[in-house]
Amino acid sequence: MPLSLNEFISTIDARRKGDSQEALPPIQAIAHAEASLPVSLPDTGMGLECLKQHILDDLVPGFNRPNQSSNYYGFITGGSTEASLFADYIVSGFDQNAQVHAPKETIGGAVEDAALRLLQQLLCIDEASFPGRIFTTGATASNILGLSLGREFAVAEAGRRRSPPSISSVAQLGVVPACLQAGVRKFQVLTTLPHSSLYKAASVVGLGKNAVVSLPLSAEEPWRFDLDALERRLSDSAGVAHIIAISAGEVNTGRFAASREEMIKIRALADKYGAWIHVDGAFGLQARVLLPSESHSSIVDGIHSIHLADSLTGDAHKLLNVPYDCGFFFCKNLALQQAVFQNGASVIPDTAEIPSPHNLGMENSRRLRALPVYASLLTYGRIWHRTLLERQIELARTIATFILGSEAYELLPRNTDLKDVYMIVLFRARSAGLNDTLVSKLNASRVMYVSGSRWDGAPAVRLAVSTWRVDVKRDSARVISELEEATSKQVLF
Ligand SMILES: *Cc1c(COP(=O)(O)O)cnc(C)c1O
Repeated sequence: MPLSLNEFISTIDARRKGDSQEALPPIQAIAHAEASLPVSLPDTGMGLECLKQHILDDLVPGFNRPNQSSNYYGFITGGSTEASLFADYIVSGFDQNAQVHAPKETIGGAVEDAALRLLQQLLCIDEASFPGRIFTTGATASNILGLSLGREFAVAEAGRRRSPPSISSVAQLGVVPACLQAGVRKFQVLTTLPHSSLYKAASVVGLGKNAVVSLPLSAEEPWRFDLDALERRLSDSAGVAHIIAISAGEVNTGRFAASREEMIKIRALADKYGAWIHVDGAFGLQARVLLPSESHSSIVDGIHSIHLADSLTGDAHKLLNVPYDCGFFFCKNLALQQAVFQNGASVIPDTAEIPSPHNLGMENSRRLRALPVYASLLTYGRIWHRTLLERQIELARTIATFILGSEAYELLPRNTDLKDVYMIVLFRARSAGLNDTLVSKLNASRVMYVSGSRWDGAPAVRLAVSTWRVDVKRDSARVISELEEATSKQVLF
């Protein structure tokens, strides 16, 4: 008997809503789920009814709850808005292949283009300046796109600047012949405290993880670019192809690598030395929904001029709160993007008004992951997204204020002004004994969940506010009581 979409939605929603607000499932639920996993493929299937029961009764109770609990502060997971969930069911139900823009066959391609443009409007990214736009599987994939284009551009630029000039395309010739022709000996990806995926991207696109070089301003502000060091690197190194990768924001602290004024200088340096600028704004780009204000001035300053970059990474499954997996990538140079990602032998560029996604990114067959973004943007609008981020920042700052006033905890990085706090709170316990076990202690309650990290060579707790369910009063009270409890338990030991 065919199942209606309504039936699917109501069954799943009943499970999602009927649960507690705890961030993690009971450990027994995970054990039960694990014991229920089959070890061998059955010759005869169990049938849909049994399968449904198995998934809903055995597996689902063993899932963690970033989308149900507002106290899930690990990684930066976001949740899924009701609108985006509805759209996600539609995406699976109608199984559109969003590979080629085929306007006479399906509206899918036009929907993706509309969603990308609405997203650019939300984030105040000029549509005409960034015509290369595509949804990806996430920020890692977008960073791979960014470094691929940086590699293509920087090698070609080195070739153009030779005498006599050469036309050296990595996409066409391969890394080694193109670099030899352009006189490039090695690559450098100049950055500050990059996300781990930047190293992966450097590995995948053949630059090498060793090519990633961090140029921090100081030990106190390791997330900020040292522009003098940047210029020295760019000017000193003959035969080096450069990509400048801006962390906006940095994944531990949420802080931004370059101010509005500094981005202008970085752009000038990139133009002078033939470098490509890529911004990793996985969760930072969302800050472009904020209006300039006294309390958000430092965040707004850090994200203000990222449109001076050549390419931008963003994640919709983080602060935009759509289901996995959904990232995005914006690029100023559509022709270069098509040259690198052109699918098949043809080098004829897409001439349709809307370029086909399979010529813009890694995948050929792909999900219409644009629809959940489209749904959220239309359902809630610009102002809702702005006030959501404002509330997330307010919760982070309320928790940070508690930590600043507490004897037991220390807010990181040291000397953080509340005005610099975005939606991440980094902190540690002052007692080394408690600090070593703090993350596991907080998570052992299963009420809230935080990520463990390191800062200044010692363990630290990273609490990232990213869900649309945020409620400043309720959630701050919960977190503060858990933090107080962790220190009171300490006395017993
Ligand atoms: C999360 C994150 C990534 C990786 O994103 P995925 O969506 O997990 O691939 C990259 N950069 C930054 C700054 C991030 O926060």
